[in-house]
Amino acid sequence: EGSGEAPVHDRRDALATLRSVFGYDAFRGDQEAVIDHLVGGGDAVVLMPTGGGKSLCYQIPAMVRPGTGVVVSPLIALMQDQVDALRAAGVRAGFINSTQDFEERRLTEAEFLAGELDLLYLAPERLRVDTTLQLLQRGKISLFAIDEAHCVAQWGHDFRPDYLALSVLGERWPEVPRVALTATATDATHQEITRRLALPDAKHFVASFDRPNIQYRIVPKNDPKKQLLTFLKEEHPGDAGIVYCLSRNSVERTADFLRDHGVEAVPYHAGLDARTRATNQSRFLREDGLVVVATIAFGMGIDKPDVRFVAHLDLPKSVEGYYQETGRAGRDGRPSTAWMAYGLQDVVQQRKLIQSGEGDEAHRRRSQSHLDAMLALCETAQCRRAQLLRYFGQEPTGENCGNCDTCLTPPETWDGTVAAQKAMSTVVRLKRERNQKFGTGQIIDILMGRKTAKVIQFDHDQLSVFGVGQELTEGEWRGAVRQLLAQGLLAVEGEYGTLVLTDEAGEVLGGRREVRFRKEPKKAPSSRGSRS
Ligand code: ADP
Ligand code: ZN
Repeated sequence: EGSGEAPVHDRRDALATLRSVFGYDAFRGDQEAVIDHLVGGGDAVVLMPTGGGKSLCYQIPAMVRPGTGVVVSPLIALMQDQVDALRAAGVRAGFINSTQDFEERRLTEAEFLAGELDLLYLAPERLRVDTTLQLLQRGKISLFAIDEAHCVAQWGHDFRPDYLALSVLGERWPEVPRVALTATATDATHQEITRRLALPDAKHFVASFDRPNIQYRIVPKNDPKKQLLTFLKEEHPGDAGIVYCLSRNSVERTADFLRDHGVEAVPYHAGLDARTRATNQSRFLREDGLVVVATIAFGMGIDKPDVRFVAHLDLPKSVEGYYQETGRAGRDGRPSTAWMAYGLQDVVQQRKLIQSGEGDEAHRRRSQSHLDAMLALCETAQCRRAQLLRYFGQEPTGENCGNCDTCLTPPETWDGTVAAQKAMSTVVRLKRERNQKFGTGQIIDILMGRKTAKVIQFDHDQLSVFGVGQELTEGEWRGAVRQLLAQGLLAVEGEYGTLVLTDEAGEVLGGRREVRFRKEPKKAPSSRGSRS
């Protein structure tokens, strides 16, 4: 544990480095404690939210200790930028990944072997290659930093098989301190990181995951692009922000729509050519008040302090994803908004994606439970911040944060037991009497007693449940079905997204379980055919 080494370096070196190289006055949060521990030769696991300042936790010890700090990071696309930025500050940094040509790599290897690098960034797949391990063995290593360490967790939302091979580091270099860092902190992931990276003796540094300056808001989706425009014009005119959409197509359409309505917006997704992507990204970093409409491909490692809002037009697949994406807002600590529009179609679509997606049954179950937690956050009538923090295994400071939509305007709830029974009976009757399954639209038409062409075609106006649900509006029915899906009382099946009952539905149908719903907002969400 480095105790045999002469203590040539101390905390003053760390502080001096912070000031002279990075230009900051003081350490933040756990930084100093982590750095002390690593400089002293110990292993560490660091959980810190996005923007918390993880990079310095390994960069400074790498510079203070003799040898090169080896940083494992999956963000290949960012390595060049990171290394350029470090070099500009006078840090001797290099990287090895697949984007390099042979000559560049050879040069970096030579620098490493000559002891001329403070930091060497590597893609995880490099460490599966014997030649890389041999190279490392021939140089002097000050520490290993494993960034985005949650990628080693199979239960997590971002698993990368290459990370499993990283346990080799502790076996081959038992005397070199290792630090695993992540902004994802569920208890399960935390434990899996510790176990799979073989860090039984590591000291754990767990920062608070609360981002008090971010206001969380989740609104029912009826006309998403228009809702987004209103949100931007009323609350964030001229501000920089990120709008996340699920598909490339909706990224393009949303960016066009915003531009047509006078908002400076550019698209970003993997389907754009590399030059356009690079241009749009650097415009976002440099200009004031640019909006980037993007798929989740955008934002990993983007360090822009004054992002004033992050908007989601589609539901993220997990709470971890939501937290990471919204966490890109307000790194400068000033008030910022995490805004999301969410509706029935999101639930149906995500469930369909999981069922028809790749991967084995275990993978589907994991995806399903990630989605369930996300839905619970969307549908909660309690403080969203409290729910987020509990999800990450942290106790909130109070039950009401006063800075999320449910705290600011507590949603009313209503007894939806009868409505739930009606919707469920319709699904049951179609199945029992006709051996049919239908999607949400048809079920709602039957409940509301609408004689649409499709209702007539299937004789559904002859069902005894036809028209039994006229006390609710279309918007209320969509809200009810959405919440039944979120509560696991209805499920979607197959490529058409037909509705089926779950095992638990029986308790509701049998009158043994009550159902409560959040009230939908007064303005009846839109007409048929619009996405909700
Ligand atoms: P993370 O990797 O945890 O998301 P970063 O390491 O990218 O966070 O740091 C986020 C931002 O905070 C960066 O702009 C970084 O330069 C800045 N920062 C980090 N530590 C300090 C500090 N001690 N004082 C001032 N700014 C800091
Ligand atoms: Zn709250």
